[in-house]
Amino acid sequence: MATKINPIEKHKLRKLISELKKKEGRGTELISLYIPPNKRISDVISYLREEYSTASNIKSDQTRKNVQDALVKVMERLKYFDVSPENGLAVFCGAIPQNGPGSEKMEIYVVVPPEPLNLNLYRCDDHFHVEHLEKTLMEKEVYGLISIDVNEAALGLLEGDNIKVLSTYTSGIPGKHRAGGQSARRFERLREMAVHQYFDRIARHVNDQFLDSDLYQRLRGILVGGPGFTKHDFLKQADIDYRLRDKIIEVIDTNYAGEEGLREIVNKASDVLKNVRYVYEKKLIDKFLWYIANKPTMILYGLKPILDHLYDGIIDKLMIIEDFEYYKVILNCEVCGYSDTKYVKIEEVHGIAGTKCPKCDNGYLRVKEEISIIDMLYELKNQLAFDIVLISSKTEYGVIFKQFGGIAAILRYALSY
Ligand SMILES: [Zn+2]
Repeated sequence: MATKINPIEKHKLRKLISELKKKEGRGTELISLYIPPNKRISDVISYLREEYSTASNIKSDQTRKNVQDALVKVMERLKYFDVSPENGLAVFCGAIPQNGPGSEKMEIYVVVPPEPLNLNLYRCDDHFHVEHLEKTLMEKEVYGLISIDVNEAALGLLEGDNIKVLSTYTSGIPGKHRAGGQSARRFERLREMAVHQYFDRIARHVNDQFLDSDLYQRLRGILVGGPGFTKHDFLKQADIDYRLRDKIIEVIDTNYAGEEGLREIVNKASDVLKNVRYVYEKKLIDKFLWYIANKPTMILYGLKPILDHLYDGIIDKLMIIEDFEYYKVILNCEVCGYSDTKYVKIEEVHGIAGTKCPKCDNGYLRVKEEISIIDMLYELKNQLAFDIVLISSKTEYGVIFKQFGGIAAILRYALSY
């Protein structure tokens, strides 16, 4: 089972990602390499060797040298591994100008993703492709999985694209055919009792695991699967908590139960899951539009009004478009210490940085800290006790939502002006 990194390490990784985003190559010469979990590094290295000889066709002397130097550096660093770690590996390497043209220095960053990242990717570009790594930091919707037949059962979670097995069970229930010399009625009664106990045991574990407060909060739904009728009998007879019953969204026929069955459920349910997500988001956007027309004091939309009320404790649910482009940027003057916070799109940051300080008119403004608004809100979410829902940007309702700024909040109580 892959290891999860803790919140502090996640924070560090967020910082690293935002620094990597700022780095630009002089040409198309920055390498991003993603290696899937448990891949043999010797295979990766022979691939990189091919890239090295392909790079000899690059026309610009400077770019060719930088790309090839970077490839050598990556290969050198990878030699420490036999196979990639169980979460995979991301490597970023290239010549970064330190202080204008001509000051390039070779930099390399090797990162183990916070959760398994099954991606095989090599890119050479004028910037680093950190977006895939960034996605692993996003909080994902979670689905509970129950796979059961008369012999075995398993509980699991689907987080993003990742299946996590929570526990597996065997029933110990005897087969339908009794041993010689046993009375048929007595055998049948014992078998029924065993089934009953088995259902009870699984239901108890379902309740214990899925009602865990941290998980329950994020649980979007539960999928149940298994071959034959057992799963239906289980749902009918077992003592599953009503809060969890409400979350059952689909019962699916599979060939296997147990751990193998969990994977089958997910494969067969992908359309269902996509729909669940869309239906959930669409309902929220519909609610938002209803409030705009009928009770505008119950909502806020647009970045500024939300930032103004962020710390009021009034926000209940925050909706934000998944490709929201704004960043919080803290600038300061190295001469007089003047400091300013701006909320801008990433491409505007470069326009502000390096301008003359408005206070002393002597120093220049430097970026001291920058964080995407989505990350910033996720970091504040627990402290301020609101819920965040990322809205898909390419759906019909996502397009409508963007016209309202792509960020909105449903409030706990009406705003009074
Ligand atoms: Zn100044």
